[in-house]
Amino acid sequence: MTKQTHSFQAEVAQLLHLVTHSLYSNKEIFLRELISNASDACDKLRFEAINDGGLYENDTELKVKVSFDKDAKTLTITDNGIGMSTQEAIDHLGTIAKSGTKDFVSKLSGDQKADSQLIGQFGVGFYSGFIVAGKITVETRRAGMKETEGVRWISGGAGDFEVEAITRPERGTSVILHLLDDALDYASAWKLKGIINKYSDHISLPILMEKEEWKDGELINPSDENGGRQPGAMVKTGEWEAVNKGNAIWARAKKDITPEDYTEFYKQISHDFEAPLAHTHNRVEGSTEYTQLLYIPGKAPMDLYNREKSAGVKLYVKRVFIMDDAEALLPTYLRFVKGVVDSADLPLNVSRELLQESRDVKAIREGCTKRVLGMLEDLAKHDKLPEASADGVTDVVSEEDQAHVGKYSKFYAEFGAVLKEGMGEDFANKDRLAKLLRFASSTTDAVSVSFADYKARMKEGQEAIYYITADNAAAAKNSPQLEVFKKKGIEVLLMTDRVDEWALNYLQDFDGTPLQSVAKGAVDLGSLQDETEKKAAEEAAETFKPLLAKLKEALKDKAEDVRVTTRLVDSPACLVVQDHGMSTQLARMLKQAGQAAPEVKPVLEVNAEHPLVKKLDGSVHFHDLAHILFDQALLAEGGLPADPAAYVKRVNALLA
Ligand code: ADP
Ligand code: MG
Repeated sequence: MTKQTHSFQAEVAQLLHLVTHSLYSNKEIFLRELISNASDACDKLRFEAINDGGLYENDTELKVKVSFDKDAKTLTITDNGIGMSTQEAIDHLGTIAKSGTKDFVSKLSGDQKADSQLIGQFGVGFYSGFIVAGKITVETRRAGMKETEGVRWISGGAGDFEVEAITRPERGTSVILHLLDDALDYASAWKLKGIINKYSDHISLPILMEKEEWKDGELINPSDENGGRQPGAMVKTGEWEAVNKGNAIWARAKKDITPEDYTEFYKQISHDFEAPLAHTHNRVEGSTEYTQLLYIPGKAPMDLYNREKSAGVKLYVKRVFIMDDAEALLPTYLRFVKGVVDSADLPLNVSRELLQESRDVKAIREGCTKRVLGMLEDLAKHDKLPEASADGVTDVVSEEDQAHVGKYSKFYAEFGAVLKEGMGEDFANKDRLAKLLRFASSTTDAVSVSFADYKARMKEGQEAIYYITADNAAAAKNSPQLEVFKKKGIEVLLMTDRVDEWALNYLQDFDGTPLQSVAKGAVDLGSLQDETEKKAAEEAAETFKPLLAKLKEALKDKAEDVRVTTRLVDSPACLVVQDHGMSTQLARMLKQAGQAAPEVKPVLEVNAEHPLVKKLDGSVHFHDLAHILFDQALLAEGGLPADPAAYVKRVNALLA
């Protein structure tokens, strides 16, 4: 094969530009990325070799070598892992296969600081080499292929790369970084060891560097023992030594692991620059034995809402890496959790299909789920500092607990909507999950009200937890349906996440108190309404009967029914749906998403006290007013009239 030039995928070219322009504050991560790729490559070889021992080519000691050449200005990372075929080199080093790449690139703003954080979350991997190198040469041969089937890949990190065939007796990959002038300090054993210790200590294969020793300069003038020497220098000895501790962090005893170790390991597996919010590390014994080290990140990844992708738990069997994204180990709604599960009970050649059926995996999944919920409960408990009690006594808070303040709010802002998916997905833990939910309310702007908080503040005689669903907080807060609740000082939870209505389907009550949408069914404030109010409502219903019948006739294509309501104070009308019907808001959402939604015909409720409604009867514009009333009620809850032009025409006719 002669030299061929290929262009990078458009997103790669954009990413490369960013890598070289935005990542200066954290240059050294390139080494972590390249060593992690080398380690992945060895893991892959070990995994493939379970079925085909020949791939080892009589060399079973998997390792990574890091070396540098000051004169040539190169830094080389070599592994004897799986290697790449020509096609693989072209595909894997020229495109980004990760889902969400397009999304990711579209979110970049050009602001270097913000972008570099985004990049951190996404993980630039191989391309981070270009932070310190003006050119990268990759020489590789796939395990099991012929010596002559090696490939050399070269790129200057701009628009394209070259590939050519080479002969390479040893399997695996060498990544040769041609260091930029301002990155020459990376050609130093001391510096490299420091970075490896910081980021890659847990890598379970040996990371080798060539030993150096001090050699005095040559004696030029024997009569002058001290002054007559050339300057001395560190010289390479030809002997290689491991510079990492090499034991998997999760396999170590807790007492030997510092908080920094935990954080570094998290950054390594998550590509996150920031520390996680919490972690849990346990050896679980019993009928299924395993170790879990699980983290809750502080930031959501790009592709969080892609339910098909990105489970964050790696599966190991007796410290041998088996697979990434082991979605069978945690339910989908906990896909934000990062970490490692290492089981001694699973076979090494376990497949994804097998995982789904394994009883051990079911036990692990249950155990991990419980742990994660436990972590979240703990964060939630310490989210706020305790308030002083009535007699002015405040509990003393330990330093550790203080460090947890605000973490749950942070978590919830990033992952709350995902957690809600669990209401429908994890029946067994529904009650625990319900306690973890937080909402804004008609009296609290922050998304911080739990069902328990709400219950504690319920009015005397209040029998339900009231909530409203809407597209956004403003629409929810200003909704006409809320008027009577505001007047009576009754708090209403505002549900503005897309998933809310669906999730609430699975929760009829909280701790014995029913949940009631204020936009569904007739308002029944029960004993919160006094006798005179009840009577007035009944009377209004009676006197308005003929008007209601006329309205119903005029709006028969749009409204299921028309009735008088007590839920309105300032607005003339609002729309509600029947008790167990789908809300108009959910129906609208389904339609927007291109899904089949049943035609929801809402009920129009009118405010008998409102001047506009009073004016209706006998008006020559009755028909137009009736339609305007309906369409405005729709607008008020964020919907659109079925025929907007007709609506505008009617309003204009009246205005004129
Ligand atoms: P990631 O590691 O997240 O997949 P990278 O950008 O780090 O993304 O690497 C891209 C791909 O290039 C890897 O998935 C792998 O297929 C290939 N690759 C990179 N380095 C090596 C290596 N040392 N040996 C074999 N394949 C490699
Ligand atoms: Mg990588």
